[in-house]
Amino acid sequence: MISYPLPVLDAADAAAAEAALAEGAVRLLSGTVVDPAGVTRAKHVPAARAMAFHTAGMGASPSWNVFCIDNALAFRPGFGVVGDLRLRADLAALRVLGDGLAWAPAEMFDQDGAPAPVCTRGLLRRTQAELERHGVTALVGAELEFVVPERAGGPWNAYGLGPVLDVEPVVLDLVAACAAAGLPLEQVHAESGAGQLELSLPPADPLAAADGVVLARLLACRVARRHGLTVSFSPLPFADGAGNGAHQHLSLFRDGVPLLSGGAGPHGLTPEGEAAIGGIVAGLPDLLGVLAGSVLSAHRLQPGHWSGAHACWGLENREAAVRLCAATPGNPHGASVEVKCIDPSANPYLAIAALLGLAADGVSRRAALPPEATVDPASLTGADAPARLPVDQAAALAALDASPLAERLLGTAIRTCLSAVRHHELDTYGEDDVAVLAERFRFTWSS
Ligand code: GLU
Ligand code: MG
Repeated sequence: MISYPLPVLDAADAAAAEAALAEGAVRLLSGTVVDPAGVTRAKHVPAARAMAFHTAGMGASPSWNVFCIDNALAFRPGFGVVGDLRLRADLAALRVLGDGLAWAPAEMFDQDGAPAPVCTRGLLRRTQAELERHGVTALVGAELEFVVPERAGGPWNAYGLGPVLDVEPVVLDLVAACAAAGLPLEQVHAESGAGQLELSLPPADPLAAADGVVLARLLACRVARRHGLTVSFSPLPFADGAGNGAHQHLSLFRDGVPLLSGGAGPHGLTPEGEAAIGGIVAGLPDLLGVLAGSVLSAHRLQPGHWSGAHACWGLENREAAVRLCAATPGNPHGASVEVKCIDPSANPYLAIAALLGLAADGVSRRAALPPEATVDPASLTGADAPARLPVDQAAALAALDASPLAERLLGTAIRTCLSAVRHHELDTYGEDDVAVLAERFRFTWSS
């Protein structure tokens, strides 16, 4: 069972962390947080200061939570130039990355040691602990799509062999870097867009899954840099290219028994599994501002792009926002739902906390399972047609701002800061040409 808030390591675990740093000849420890705009920010200490980073933490202005994608500050009461937060590195999640560098995710606390409500990793830790307290556990698998712009110009076969061999030295180094960092990889392939690759991570504990996304991005960007390449985790790196998704696969269990298979419902769903999917589908419009809320997100989230632009579910339906992957011999991890509308501008801690929260909400109110979309939802008309998710950033933010559910799942501090930074984007760039936007923010979500 996960505990909340972040516990201080006991003496044995602290000694193990120190030993790992020494054995790995670590010189610098980077501790990261992901802000509400989805940007990864960090403090760094010499290895000898690792325990101080874990216990007292390193300072950060509360305004870190209202940094915008253009580095403007969308100040809000309590999130301004006065005050201090402590970033505490979670050394239980420490990874030695090689060549003197180590990484750990960090959480935000106030100076007296109380967890800061604005901390997104803290929110996920709390959401997961709450779910587990009710006997439900979750596993989350992540898909990371990204574009190597230097490879976007040439010939490209979607899912082709050649595109991967073209960047084979990078891919092999990335596989090695993941293995060295203890990050298991599920698979790697060339995606449909020119220059677009995908890494997938196997199901993991929710907090570890979100950390895995941060670490995988760091490793992808670090390895690419060493080959003189750059990597874009923007929802839409090029106006005329494919969008990057950040799909999450969620599976749920009660007392260890799967909720998405082995039942009498459609495709083996149990009643609680049906209710969980009902909760997710019903809540996606409210939470889209969390999952795909940036100024570029709606340009990606279009029908016909397998990005899940419709609020519906369906077995292996790649146009539904929620794709059910049933438990078959071809799916050894067991049944999951893939939430496809998420893009990489979403903070992964917030995105996973939102999904867990929606599933728990569905289960607690026994939400009805909506009708299954068995065809491309865009082809349906009339009463059967599922709704589009909010079609632009303004609509996604209006839904988020008006949602009591979002307030309950995120808390006031996170919702305030998220809304602040996304409204800055809307107000400043909402009318801009998509090609200008794509170029301007191509590397904003890279590490
Ligand atoms: N690139 C698509 C997206 O933006 C997803 C393609 C796929 O299904 O893998 O979400
Ligand atoms: Mg993909």
